[in-house]
Amino acid sequence: NPNQFDVAIIGAGAAGMMCAAVAGQRGRRVVLIDHASKLAEKIRISGGGRCNFTNVGAGPQHYLSQNPHFCRSALSRYTPQDFIGLVKRHRIGFHEKHKGQLFCDDSAEDIIAMLKAECDAGNVSWRMPCTVQEVGKSAEQFRIATSAGEIQASSLVIATGGLSIPKIGATDFAYRIARQFDLKLVETRPGLVPLTFDGKAWQSLTELAGIALEVEVETGVKKERGHFLEDLLFTHRGLSGPAILQISSFWKPGTPLTLNLLPQLDVADTLIEGKGALKKNLGNLLAQWLPNRLAEGWLKINGFDAGARIADMPDKSLKKLGDSLNRWVILPSGSEGYRKAEVTLGGVDTRELSQQTMMASKVPGLHFIGEAMDVTGWLGGYNFQWAWASGVAAGSAV
Ligand code: FAD
Repeated sequence: NPNQFDVAIIGAGAAGMMCAAVAGQRGRRVVLIDHASKLAEKIRISGGGRCNFTNVGAGPQHYLSQNPHFCRSALSRYTPQDFIGLVKRHRIGFHEKHKGQLFCDDSAEDIIAMLKAECDAGNVSWRMPCTVQEVGKSAEQFRIATSAGEIQASSLVIATGGLSIPKIGATDFAYRIARQFDLKLVETRPGLVPLTFDGKAWQSLTELAGIALEVEVETGVKKERGHFLEDLLFTHRGLSGPAILQISSFWKPGTPLTLNLLPQLDVADTLIEGKGALKKNLGNLLAQWLPNRLAEGWLKINGFDAGARIADMPDKSLKKLGDSLNRWVILPSGSEGYRKAEVTLGGVDTRELSQQTMMASKVPGLHFIGEAMDVTGWLGGYNFQWAWASGVAAGSAV
């Protein structure tokens, strides 16, 4: 029966292809099902087209989850070095960019071609483009009704990812299947996403659009606290850049962010202590520390006269200026949402799954891998590393 398989995998993205390749090369009869007409669009657009495919330092501390230790086992059994080994075997050129982030020299297409070749080596069958209408389960089998007929398999792996970028085919399929089989979900929200601002205070900041600089940013308290030293980008709609994408995954609506625009300098202290010796005016001095346009704009927005001589200013004003730069507290009104988010936080509750095999303990044979589950990486190659590691964990078990 050509529609009878050991393993059916729904979603031929990063995690699904990795899982298929591993299971296929173990001799399992595997079918990969995807509704898209173009293979692995998300890998293609990732990392600005060069795919930041892993991070050399990836560890459990780089992931958000209600169940933070869950990812430990799979990450330690399939490491960044393992994936780098695969990339090298396929002779794909790569380089390190920033903080351990590895990118392809040429194109993300190389990673897609590599995964496709690994699937071919495992004799994986494809149903694509193919829509899944219904999933049912009898005692021994999953029965998957699709636009290409009914497929039967003893194991079913759900690898349909999260909700980000619906334009290229993201769906809530994984969550629907979880609900169908009575598995708990952790509420989802967009992560690694630009934040938006409104109101009068923001209006005056729009003139800073285009300015980028390294900042410290933090939000939240205790276990939920996020803290990053990364680049910030002012845009017309709000704030973006790696600093904001990183912190957005920790940000809760209604709570503020605290930014330090000059992390290397205590501005108030420097101004007050150096008052006598600092013969300059405010504008010139700030322009030594900050991009010119930001120095000018910042003084104007905060009601300071760029021409004022520092020596003539009261300590209280200098302290206020220092605080505005070292402890800028702002309240985002929202985010750009799934349309722009690189990932989806939350998803299938990992407490329902085995950390060895990614299988639901209540539903033997049913596995969830990749972004569909409640494991979300920081920016920097961590999300793909989770897709590879969870894909290998399930692929080795099915
Ligand atoms: P996906 O790769 O999203 O694959 C899911 C697959 O399921 C897709 O092929 C989709 O067509 C299919 N599918 C969905 N619904 C259905 C359905 N109902 N029926 C059938 N098929 C379905 N991470 C990094 O680590 N490094 C980066 O550089 C990076 N850059 C990114 C850039 C952008 C713009 C975005 C949006 C994300 C980026 N990410 C990056 C995140 C990363 O792409 C994802 O975390 C990763 O692809 C998740 O892998 P996955 O296999 O779980 O899901």
